[in-house]
Amino acid sequence: MTDAGTLIRAKRDGNRLADDDIRWLLEAHEAGEVADEQMSALLMAIYFQGLDRAELRTWTAEMIASGDRLDLSSISKPTVDKHSTGGVGDKVSMIVAPLVASCGAAVPHLSGRGLGHTGGTLDKLESIPGFRAGLTPAETLDVLARAGCVICAAGSGLAPADRRLYALRDVTGTIESIPLIASSIMSKKIAGGTRALVLDVKVGTGAFMKSRDKAHELAETMVALGEEQHVRTRALLTRMDAPLGRAVGNAVEVEEAVRALAGDGPPDLMEVTLALAGQMLALAGIEADPAAAIADGRALAAYRMMVSAQGGDPDAPLPQAPHTLRALPAPASGWLSRLDALAVGTAAWRLGAGRARKEHGVSAAAGVICLAKPGERVQAGQPLLELRAEEEGRFSRALAALDGAVEISERDPSASAVSPSPVIEQIG
Ligand code: URA
Repeated sequence: MTDAGTLIRAKRDGNRLADDDIRWLLEAHEAGEVADEQMSALLMAIYFQGLDRAELRTWTAEMIASGDRLDLSSISKPTVDKHSTGGVGDKVSMIVAPLVASCGAAVPHLSGRGLGHTGGTLDKLESIPGFRAGLTPAETLDVLARAGCVICAAGSGLAPADRRLYALRDVTGTIESIPLIASSIMSKKIAGGTRALVLDVKVGTGAFMKSRDKAHELAETMVALGEEQHVRTRALLTRMDAPLGRAVGNAVEVEEAVRALAGDGPPDLMEVTLALAGQMLALAGIEADPAAAIADGRALAAYRMMVSAQGGDPDAPLPQAPHTLRALPAPASGWLSRLDALAVGTAAWRLGAGRARKEHGVSAAAGVICLAKPGERVQAGQPLLELRAEEEGRFSRALAALDGAVEISERDPSASAVSPSPVIEQIG
């Protein structure tokens, strides 16, 4: 007879857990026979000792089996989704889902909300008047069939074991474990029913993974889990040292995403978007040029169709912040060489764009606009950011987050070195 204490001690001491033990632990936790404190101890043991490939495969399969799997068999087009591990100013999903849909794939993008300094796509889209992110499975399929893409919340029936484990990890210092992150992300994505998946694994100060080695390991682990579950999976490692694009927040990011779909996006954002779109189309087996779908208006039309199908008005004015502050004067003249993503993301969060706890709401209008980006020429005293908030009282704490966030170089970076591409590496 298995008991939790024996299995916790086994993992703590660096031993493998058998498939049956893993199944029993997750099922017994669900049934309340393994207590939260025992599961928390096991998660900490996994944090230190890890899970090998076979253990992780079983752990992930069991998390998927804890709930439903969205049945996309009624969708005749090839299905492909993307997932980002989270960054600052990362509005790629709002662009890439309609873009890839406009090229002939179906994109069922089950997304999340922001927590901490990284934003969530659903919070951003909900700044559009009328937009509904909470859809039933039948509504999800209906929007997907009509618009070619849907961006909505993963319903509570998908991988419910992840929700329970994540809540424990959140309060026990066990979030930052590669096997636990990989199984958490992949169980939800696989339960979403897609046949193919492209992962955008962010690396840098504003990302979960601060080092390239760790990001590579996470990407490889997730690609292997996807392939084992018969989901064609690839990953791109992309830079997250500076915000992506110029807008960080909710409504401000929707505005920038719409401009990008209309062909007027900032270069770093477009490079990441087109790279991910290219990978998604390749996995879907579709030969198409995503840049052409932006240039001829198809991508923007697909976005407008998706927003309308989800109850939103794509022509409605977006919420505007009543208070703005031009801030962060350049300390010298030269070229902006660093604009720290974590600092800008934290400032946007403190302005009200993000939430500290899951149950809090967010301000649609709050955020930060980067008036200069790394690589651009700046003059001493020129404000580098515009802060936006619903209450003036939020500015001082946001400004405190920006202490030491910028560096100015005397040399033009483009004259001496090739400026680094935001896309670092492909895995899978
Ligand atoms: N996102 C998830 O969904 N799960 C994690 O564990 C970390 C990030």
